[in-house]
Amino acid sequence: MRSLWTGVALLVVISAWYDVGRTQPRTDTVVPPAPARHLVFGNPSHATTNPSDADNFLLAKPQFVLSYHNTHGTPNWVSWHLKKSDIGKVERQDTFRPDPELPRQFKHVLPNDYVGSGFDRGHMCNSKDRTQTEADNSATFVMTNMVPQTPDLNRGPWEKLESYARTLVGSGRELSMIAGCSGARTTLRRANTVQVPESCWKVIAVLPRGGNTVAHVESNTRVIAVEMPNTQGIKKKDWRAFLTTARAIEAKTGYDFFSTVPTEIQDQIETRKDTGRARATRTSTRERRRP
Ligand code: MN
Repeated sequence: MRSLWTGVALLVVISAWYDVGRTQPRTDTVVPPAPARHLVFGNPSHATTNPSDADNFLLAKPQFVLSYHNTHGTPNWVSWHLKKSDIGKVERQDTFRPDPELPRQFKHVLPNDYVGSGFDRGHMCNSKDRTQTEADNSATFVMTNMVPQTPDLNRGPWEKLESYARTLVGSGRELSMIAGCSGARTTLRRANTVQVPESCWKVIAVLPRGGNTVAHVESNTRVIAVEMPNTQGIKKKDWRAFLTTARAIEAKTGYDFFSTVPTEIQDQIETRKDTGRARATRTSTRERRRP
């Protein structure tokens, strides 16, 4: 009798064990908790941390999250949340380096691969958005966060939109940003396996302070979407000349932005082209409505 009960107990323990192992999520599709704030609105290309998924490989860092395209040697997209406390006074670290978190068998783009190419090492998650600590700023200089951008794009309208975004944060907003590039223009002279894109795009959701949750996105949430050509001759252009819709970028890239947001709301915020200007504040709206 005693041995029967021991046997039953053993079976219960084993089956419980088996169940735990079975129901545990596959680790290659789980985003580590620390950078979760950068992916609140979804993983637009279903990137995973499985190294066999080399052209859609998820790298999650405390400062930003990205999907790497190993064949192109560039990110597919980089996503980051921006709030006031991310912006500090740290000096630009200029620590361009291969990404140490990339699996060894992957293509490790070197800072020098860009030298003499005529293209800038264009940050996706930009340096000034990560200036609270030296470590945060330095983290933006890994080569997996870089795309070959023309100097006129990088230092022109692309930079102007980055600055504009920080002014929104300065006036009490939080932002959820995602940036990437698409198309194939050429390759780098020194590293002909690194692809130079035809255009770069960015989608920004403008959120209230403390508003980085799905529940904070409503049909009238401001979404700024741009697509800029990766060409010379555009340095003086305003970023607003390149406004488009998130839906147009989805159609072009095949990604799904805001996938965690209800479809009816996606349909509104992704198809409305932003005006490039902040809308009237709540107070002034109420004043206008007054009879
Ligand atoms: Mn979508």
